[in-house]
Amino acid sequence: MIKGIDKILCINCGLCEDICPTDVFRRKNRKIYIAYQDDCCNCMDCFFVCPTEAITLAAGVPRKFDVRLRWKQIKEGLYPASVGIRGKMEGKN
Ligand code: SF4
Ligand code: SF4
Repeated sequence: MIKGIDKILCINCGLCEDICPTDVFRRKNRKIYIAYQDDCCNCMDCFFVCPTEAITLAAGVPRKFDVRLRWKQIKEGLYPASVGIRGKMEGKN
């Protein structure tokens, strides 16, 4: 699970908000913040897409690309994030 956003490093580009499959991020006064941390599914897409490495991870979350984890995510439909959980949930409604 993600832990936080480094306010000094973050340039508020919005890439993390765009890629997150579970809508964890929100924007207020042009600043990106973590609004629904518990909804994080650990896909790591925000971590890898962030151009300034502003996103920090909770202890125990691997920081390097883990090919076994990524295959697991693909099998579970969690990757790629752009067609991930949100799309599936919308399809069921
Ligand atoms: S992708 Fe990184 S720099 Fe861009 S808004 Fe998110 S945390 Fe900030
Ligand atoms: S790790 Fe995935 S689910 Fe969690 S906040 Fe980042 S993009 Fe969203």
